[in-house]
Amino acid sequence: MVNWTQMHDCYMDVDRVPALLERVELEDNAEAWEELRYRLVLEHDLVFPAGFAALPRLVRLASRSARARGLAGTILRRAAGHHGCDDLLADCAGAIAEFRKLLDRHLQSRPVDYLATFLDLLAAKEQYHWSAVLGDFTDDFYHLTCPHCAVEVTIAIGDYGRYSAIRDWHQGDVDRRVLRQASREGLSGIGRWMHETAVRDGREALADGIAHLFGKGECPCCASVFNIAEEYTSANRPVLR
Ligand SMILES: [Zn+2]
Repeated sequence: MVNWTQMHDCYMDVDRVPALLERVELEDNAEAWEELRYRLVLEHDLVFPAGFAALPRLVRLASRSARARGLAGTILRRAAGHHGCDDLLADCAGAIAEFRKLLDRHLQSRPVDYLATFLDLLAAKEQYHWSAVLGDFTDDFYHLTCPHCAVEVTIAIGDYGRYSAIRDWHQGDVDRRVLRQASREGLSGIGRWMHETAVRDGREALADGIAHLFGKGECPCCASVFNIAEEYTSANRPVLR
């Protein structure tokens, strides 16, 4: 049983969240959901003890409530930050495993909120980095540093092209080099999982973008070839939101 007297929310209250949870468990009340959301998740970066304490109950509701599913996903995305609740998060392991299965089933139903669900599932897999930075590849840029000559390289993966380039303040992306996408067999780890899932669910643009993101890029300055996802991850660690 959760000791709610120690589970404060964003407003340092301990009694509202359990009352609101009881209410939404009885009926899908929009007002109660709204208050739950702002009490459990503060803006874009913080999550509080009440959020982790509420997580198992939100996951139980998530199979029949899109609001519960969305709120549980948001809490997990925030779990990357510094919240001082590692013990509470560890207690949620069973609920998070259940939530992963639920999100995976939801993805296979080809929902309109496919990308948001995909990002929630990445967070539930503790892939907070990709959960925070992955876009839909219509207009995406990734900035990294060439591992050999240290020049700043812009990686573009979008409808207008897939290239590495030097970003010039006045001229835009210059010295473009076409990216080399990873083959299906060339993918491993989380890149492979992301690609296979997008292919399974018929999300061609997403799968194609992931194959490029986990592929290779060429530095426009020194012509060295590097693994884009690796360099981007190391360039952006530990920036998490
Ligand atoms: Zn270089």
